[in-house]
Amino acid sequence: MSKFFSSKYKNLTPYTPGEQPKEREYIKLNTNESPFPPSPLAIKMANQESEKVYLYSDPNSTVLTNTVAEYYGVKPEQVIMTNGSDEVLNFAFMAYCDNQNKAVFADITYGFYKVFAEINNVPYKEIPLKDDFSLDIDAFIKEDGTLFIANPNAPTGICLSLLEIEKIVSSNTQRIVVIDEAYIDFGGQSAVKLVDKYDNLLVTQTFSKSRSMAGARLGFGIANAKLIFDLVNIKYSLNPYNVNRMTSGAGIGAIKDDKYFKDNINKIIQNREYTVCELEKLGFTVIDSKANFVFVKSDKISGKDLYLKLKEMGILVRHFEKPRIKDFNRITIGDKNQMVSLINQIKNIIGE
Ligand SMILES: *Cc1c(COP(=O)(O)O)cnc(C)c1O
Repeated sequence: MSKFFSSKYKNLTPYTPGEQPKEREYIKLNTNESPFPPSPLAIKMANQESEKVYLYSDPNSTVLTNTVAEYYGVKPEQVIMTNGSDEVLNFAFMAYCDNQNKAVFADITYGFYKVFAEINNVPYKEIPLKDDFSLDIDAFIKEDGTLFIANPNAPTGICLSLLEIEKIVSSNTQRIVVIDEAYIDFGGQSAVKLVDKYDNLLVTQTFSKSRSMAGARLGFGIANAKLIFDLVNIKYSLNPYNVNRMTSGAGIGAIKDDKYFKDNINKIIQNREYTVCELEKLGFTVIDSKANFVFVKSDKISGKDLYLKLKEMGILVRHFEKPRIKDFNRITIGDKNQMVSLINQIKNIIGE
């Protein structure tokens, strides 16, 4: 750190992204990317836009916004498109948290929430998940402040029902509830249905996982038009051209090619079921997942050792060396061949 670094940021602990190693070809099951390429239509439309990169992108992302709004059955004024959903989440921390409104999130959840709270200098409170890693709904309901809930949660994969989400949102309409639906397409019920009913609800989603566009950086928020107005205000104060032309084109193509999207989701869900079944046969504890990953542990090997041995064998999974979850690994669901290799290597490791 230089001596010039602002004292505002001296104590920051930045987010730790999953490993993206270059030294060897791994089967990458550590960052919840899709194993499938993006839709051919997404690639085609991105390429068309690439010829126009000498011009700024449309700051309103008009065509993309309209396409997303139509797909989700809301008005364009209810949608903001962002550079990954991380950006809309950060906008929400900026817009809805301050010394009077602390950020509230689970102790085991998406690691970026704490980082956003810290960089925006807002107080935050972590609510412990219950022993079975389910969300403590009553504890959330009792808290003042702005609630951030990943649904399904990461890294557990546990998903609340729409009724449970509504219970939280409706319990106090004087505070904002942000539902981060990065993994909702893999089997959960989206809270987008509730945005016309509750003006304190913001739902965020991403193209990074279910739409195979992690490297393009595209996410969005859906809410009541007044909330979107707030977020757009922040966006125009930071980075009006936050969604670049290629990404915008790719996003439109990805939404239009709905069959490709749904086929891939179905494949991931099938591969998840296969993986869960095989791991349970090997004696693993597998948390019930509605995401494109599973959170698992074995009595036969520590979480850390399994992670290290798999890495030696060319398979990367995600291990978090944190008190409540260090026995576990989070394993992304890839294509069928990848999951068969994973199961075979785990059999070798635990000697079955
Ligand atoms: C991956 C992820 C995001 C955001 O990803 P982007 O690539 O920025 O869209 C947000 N929340 C959770 C829980 C995630 O796992």
